[in-house]
Amino acid sequence: MPDHAQPTFPQTGGCQCGAVRYELREPPLGIWACHCSLCRKQSGSAFGLSMSVALDALVFTRGDPGSWTRQAESGHWLDCLYCCDCGSRLIHRRHENDGRQTLKPGTLDDTSWVVPERHFFTESALDWVRPLFPAGTDSAS
Ligand SMILES: [Zn+2]
Ligand SMILES: [Zn+2]
Repeated sequence: MPDHAQPTFPQTGGCQCGAVRYELREPPLGIWACHCSLCRKQSGSAFGLSMSVALDALVFTRGDPGSWTRQAESGHWLDCLYCCDCGSRLIHRRHENDGRQTLKPGTLDDTSWVVPERHFFTESALDWVRPLFPAGTDSAS
């Protein structure tokens, strides 16, 4: 993590309406931005932000998220957890349990320490976000 990021844990977060709340109890395993069209569609914004966290590092403290399942281009099946009231996407989980899950970190109450370490699919990034990453750093996989 970058030097300026010194979060303490647990960190709290939740959906836009507050019906679903969670606690993140351990530091993340990684933070990245994805500039593919699907992440743009999902986020409703210029790109998707993702934070990998251990499965047991995140605990729901209020509400029960709904789930929608889709197949990723990689062939993996993903459960996409969201608030049933306001629709905020919260978490993505692969069907085959690999011990981690992907939190949408914009749902944290404090996002000051959320800095992506990598950018994926930069070739499809919107022109005005390109200054966010140096040219030639595309790590699309
Ligand atoms: Zn909600
Ligand atoms: Zn993507």
